Amino acid sequence: MKESRGKHTVCIHEGEIHDEQFGGAISPIFLASSYPFIDQDEKRYPRYFNTPNQEVIAKKIAALEKAEAALPFSSGMAAISTTLLSFLKQGDHAVFQNEIYGGSFNLIHKEFQNYGIEFTLTRGIEVQDFEEAIRPNTRVIYIETPSNPLLSITDIKSVADLARSRGIISVIDNTFASPVNQTPIDLGIDISLHSATKYLGGHSDLCAGAVAGSEEHIEKILHKGRNLGGSLSDFTCYMLERSIKTLGLRIEKHNENAGYVAEQLELQKGVTKVFYPGLENHKNHDLARSQMHGFGGMLSFELHASIDAKAYQKRLKMIKPAMSLAGVESTVIQPSLTSHALMTPEERSKQGISDQLLRLSVGIENKEDIIEDLIQALEV
Ligand SMILES: *Cc1c(COP(=O)(O)O)cnc(C)c1O
Repeated sequence: MKESRGKHTVCIHEGEIHDEQFGGAISPIFLASSYPFIDQDEKRYPRYFNTPNQEVIAKKIAALEKAEAALPFSSGMAAISTTLLSFLKQGDHAVFQNEIYGGSFNLIHKEFQNYGIEFTLTRGIEVQDFEEAIRPNTRVIYIETPSNPLLSITDIKSVADLARSRGIISVIDNTFASPVNQTPIDLGIDISLHSATKYLGGHSDLCAGAVAGSEEHIEKILHKGRNLGGSLSDFTCYMLERSIKTLGLRIEKHNENAGYVAEQLELQKGVTKVFYPGLENHKNHDLARSQMHGFGGMLSFELHASIDAKAYQKRLKMIKPAMSLAGVESTVIQPSLTSHALMTPEERSKQGISDQLLRLSVGIENKEDIIEDLIQALEV
């Protein structure tokens, strides 16, 4: 497909299968787990990541990420674990950003020692923090931006340049931004990965993951993936294809709504702080502006000490207090009770996560209805 095609066109058409039998307008679902082998260059099998519907997703995500190649996975964690194990073996070392998704944090803390893989969490998110963590046996640097739950922004290009200058593979978890708001491979990152359960899926009804990068890197991940087995079912590939058709539209609306809600929340007496990279007072606003195409649908805010956070969430009428994020519907969580519940209160406060902090996944409802709900719950 031509480079010049717009993002919405890519979302809708890239990779689609033409229905030659009936001429239908959408990709058919091919459920076969058994394909011919005689005189075939490619032996198709679901766990080989090469069924027709898996290939649709691979092509779409590669195009969106401006990558040579991509692979769909059965979950974000399957994408993350398979990618890390493709480039790290016994005796190797990896540098991870200090603020990363809880599942990734658990993966490295619970599993890596069983494989003899060493890792360091950075002290902060400045490029020097990554540089000082590098050792002679460092093979991977892993970042996540915007981060959860405070939406801190890591300088993607600086970290990518650092990694490349040392011959280290750079990996980004691009879930929060989505490929519509951020294309890290353009900035020099080697591998961009996703929990497709979030914005790529976008309707809170599927679990999937994806990895994008060069042909060479994806080939390595493919071979590891065939052994580890985290392939995506063709039914879910179909749902994901359907979802991605509206990704560009949805993200534009998420961006608009979150920007509006962030500005309005800042004006409320019951709200002491708002964290959103699109706000000019966000500590990394300029960096976010320089490396993102939009500021995304995620924000967090702190309730005034006089408001009980749990009671506040129960007073919400439309916005659901619910785990996960990035659906068309707005949801809210309290990180101290969910994603960061296993940390001690001291560890949380060191990261700036108070018990009054709420993380909001701003949906695509009418923005006036979202802010009205948030405000009515402030007023007891
Ligand atoms: C949800 C999430 C993951 C894990 O994805 P699953 O699909 O739940 O396995 C990884 N990274 C981020 C940033 C996430 O939000």
